[in-house]
Amino acid sequence: MPGNAPPLPGRAGADSGRGAGPPGLSADRSPALPRGPRPENPYRPKGPEKPSRLPPAASLAALALALAASALFALPAAFGQPSGPPGHGDRQHIVYFQGTDQELEIYKIYGRHDGPTIMILGGIQGDEPGGFMSADLYVDMALERGNLIVVPRANFKSIIAFNRGIVGDMNRKFSDAQAGPAPAPDPDREAVRIIKNLMAEADLFLNLHDGSGFYRHSWESEMANPKRYGQCIIADAESYRDPKTGRDIALGRDARRAVELINRSIPEDEFKFRFSNHDTLSETTSHAEQRGSATFYALTALGIPAFGIETSKQLPSLEMKIRQHNLAVNAFMDIFGVVPESPRVRM
Ligand SMILES: [Zn+2]
Repeated sequence: MPGNAPPLPGRAGADSGRGAGPPGLSADRSPALPRGPRPENPYRPKGPEKPSRLPPAASLAALALALAASALFALPAAFGQPSGPPGHGDRQHIVYFQGTDQELEIYKIYGRHDGPTIMILGGIQGDEPGGFMSADLYVDMALERGNLIVVPRANFKSIIAFNRGIVGDMNRKFSDAQAGPAPAPDPDREAVRIIKNLMAEADLFLNLHDGSGFYRHSWESEMANPKRYGQCIIADAESYRDPKTGRDIALGRDARRAVELINRSIPEDEFKFRFSNHDTLSETTSHAEQRGSATFYALTALGIPAFGIETSKQLPSLEMKIRQHNLAVNAFMDIFGVVPESPRVRM
């Protein structure tokens, strides 16, 4: 079922140097700073300090070269990195497939102090404007602590068409089992590969959706039951032990904490959020298709916590969908210690 409001086309002016900052600033930019320890992150193992997963621009340049070697069409245009790798308080705007209907915009926002990196993905399905219009709002954010990687419109072509996925559901294409030769050329594959590489820089992955109906733990009605998606935080397990590191990722704990924070600002009982455990690893899961999803990849291949955030397509307004996505993203920022700077100062 489509949303209540027509989608907006691509971000107006989004490729006009947004995030690049005013000209003439390059000489003042901070030198590369080692990304420090992140004591706020409950999942970081104690012990020797590790550098942040968010790499400096030099690594991005290497990535760009690697991409160029492997895929002619994946050369990104980068803004906001005029000299040297980014430092505290910097931001980068990178555009892949520029000028095409598959344009893929990436924003990296570096906080003034080290902290965890949260990746926010919007628009992986083209008919879910609450998610991608919320993600849009985070690209201009300034951070006191921590970092954001924002991909506001993962599936631009489908967003323009207001279609879930014009070449199939992009959120079923993340399994490494699908990384081999494709049965047919799939225009989504390059975008998925770029998104996977970005996820590997993050400590937490959030995938923003507008789902059908209202999730409930037990059956209440055709539109409000355990098979519906709206108004919930989805994870693939209650908890997950990463076999590579042995660390436990307490998905249920963090999702319930987020739900508690979100619901403080949602007065309507019928719109309150819940935690939905898809139990995707279980043989008896009713969501086996989610093993191809971005969150499942983040959790099982990268060993980072990952959540789907679902507002309902049946909320009464697009504004309410966007605001509730914001509540959810803000809740996870709070839980993981990514702190906004407000008001923002940029000189
Ligand atoms: Zn969705």
